[in-house]
Amino acid sequence: MKFLVETIGCQQNEYDASRLAIFLKSAGFIKSTAKEAGVIFILACSVRQMAVDRIIGRIRNWQRDGKKIYITACVTDDDKKKFTKKGVTYFKDFDELSNILGLKAISYKLTADSCYVPIMTGCNNFCSYCIVPYTRGREKSRSTNEIIKEVTQLISNFSTVQYGSEKPKIILLGQNVNSYEYGFAELLKKINDLPGDFIISFMSNHPKDMKADVIDAIAKLPKVNKEIHLPLQAGSDKILKAMNRPYTAEEYLRLVESLKSKVPKVKLTTDIIVGFPGETEEDFQQTVKVCKKVGFSLAYINKYSPRKGTASYKLGDPIAWSEKQRRWKILDNLINKNK
Ligand code: SF4
Repeated sequence: MKFLVETIGCQQNEYDASRLAIFLKSAGFIKSTAKEAGVIFILACSVRQMAVDRIIGRIRNWQRDGKKIYITACVTDDDKKKFTKKGVTYFKDFDELSNILGLKAISYKLTADSCYVPIMTGCNNFCSYCIVPYTRGREKSRSTNEIIKEVTQLISNFSTVQYGSEKPKIILLGQNVNSYEYGFAELLKKINDLPGDFIISFMSNHPKDMKADVIDAIAKLPKVNKEIHLPLQAGSDKILKAMNRPYTAEEYLRLVESLKSKVPKVKLTTDIIVGFPGETEEDFQQTVKVCKKVGFSLAYINKYSPRKGTASYKLGDPIAWSEKQRRWKILDNLINKNK
């Protein structure tokens, strides 16, 4: 049977998609295109409502062509009902999928291109626009031993694969890696001490939880990438508060200063939401100001779209799409263009 995995959203989904593809291939499925696939697996995203809506729009066409559709990842209870009504099958994990497809338990091997290593799942932060804590549950850290074992296995695969001039990367994943239960700085050190020539990256960081020990580890450990993703989301304290992001613009800038002084080669990337309910021109200009001060090398800029089930959903969506587009363009020109 030919299959396709469609992914929306974050690196966690990218990682899960590559594991799902390996799992399906080991069960005899063949990776294919949307046109040829008989079965399509969707990894849905809890944040990007518009992307989910687009997928819903494509489901009918796929079904008309006789394809069977399965969905997993960040799916709200409401969406689950919506998808089920459309004849889409939801599955929680590989065990459930094995049961649905009638497959025997299959062990799958991580390959050299699966460099994403989740160190924790879930989130405790409840940013007001985000549904991850509701769909993926509370934070749960994997044990350090389990992570080291998986990374060691990946590194042994690296040595048998040609990577050209690029060094292979281990990317540690979590919604908030800084709150890794067993000590994130210690984990970085342990991975850094493993033999081999590779780079350690990680995401995402939460500005409220990135402390001096992690900054010191970034500075001192040679294998740790000096490009750090530090989501700002907004530069206005009023909007940060409404987003339930418990830091101020000044605290964020202090953290950036600390990173810049201890890690002279640091490059910073970020996430920003424009058009959050209540964001005035003045609020937006504060975001512009913070961006200018930091000098990000890249920003993932999202136009706010309300997600049912989140705290900010009840605030509506008062800012016109054209205005969000204008703000998006200003930041995109400032940060991402002419690089
Ligand atoms: S930190 Fe905030 S934005 Fe990130 S997953 Fe948690 S609740 Fe969502």
